[in-house]
Amino acid sequence: MNTPVIAIHGGAGTITRSSLSAEDEARYHAALADIVGAAQALLNGGGSALDAVTEAVRLLEDCPLFNAGHGAVYTSQGRHELDACVMSGIDLAAGAVACVTNIRNPVLAARAVMHHSQHVLLVGQGAEAFAQQQGVATVGPDYFHTDARHEQWLRVRGQAGTVLDHDAASFAFAQQQQEQAPIDPDHKFGTVGAVALDRFGNLAAATSTGGITNKQPGRVGDSPLIGAGCYASNSTAAISATGTGEAFMRTNAAYDIAARMAYAGDTLEQAAHKVVFKLLPVVGGRGGLIALDAQGNLTLPFNTEGMYRAYGRGDAAPVTAIYA
Ligand code: ASP
Repeated sequence: MNTPVIAIHGGAGTITRSSLSAEDEARYHAALADIVGAAQALLNGGGSALDAVTEAVRLLEDCPLFNAGHGAVYTSQGRHELDACVMSGIDLAAGAVACVTNIRNPVLAARAVMHHSQHVLLVGQGAEAFAQQQGVATVGPDYFHTDARHEQWLRVRGQAGTVLDHDAASFAFAQQQQEQAPIDPDHKFGTVGAVALDRFGNLAAATSTGGITNKQPGRVGDSPLIGAGCYASNSTAAISATGTGEAFMRTNAAYDIAARMAYAGDTLEQAAHKVVFKLLPVVGGRGGLIALDAQGNLTLPFNTEGMYRAYGRGDAAPVTAIYA
């Protein structure tokens, strides 16, 4: 029997000590610890890695502090379009949804796609109709609103670029070669994800996001794409990423870690560090990821100032962190 492990992230970006109040900091630590604790209880009770990552991401989606589900960012048209993905390391089974606008918990829709469709990725209205047929809860557009995200969007609305939700200092697209002055110094939140190893030695990963603030309608990032923002295979690792999605897509970042382990014999740590600190920066990729292998090795690298992150092993107290 393995000691179960769960790790989660809530986005990476320009998260500095001076930009977070002590109260906000405490709120993030508490939310991260609660969610890890809930997933640990599930795993310690014999639950599967797949159920643990789904439940952790569902809780992160419900938490307004993070850019997924309730609290998601706004598109350039002032709406919300959500992406999510889940993958099982046992058999590479996967499910994902993208550009959905009325599903309360996109990760549950991704699970439904995985178990009850013949497909891996459903988008837009087709995904919404399928989720509804499967009994996944829907909500009106107001459900996703938070004042913080709305203000953030009002500040950048009408500009050509997009803004990494939790990273005010940087525009995600290379149209703007130089980094912009911070537009949103107050609110730094992000995409969410989880990786888990269960008692039986199985891995799973899940990722969910509202994407990037002021994104073009119809834009899909790395989060719902297998191999880019999410990947799990028992023979290598479970990975969930956060950051400038286009760079993670172009480098196939999550799968690149698995490939380095499988083909080059890298350890989890070596592979993840090469991707985050060497490969991604070549294409302007900023962000981080959480990665876990079947031996319980865990690494949480990021190339930004901070990444909301936490993990728990067995019944040890959750460990939470924000800054480098
Ligand atoms: N990777 C996400 C996306 O590009 C954004 C994020 O991680 O905050 O949609």
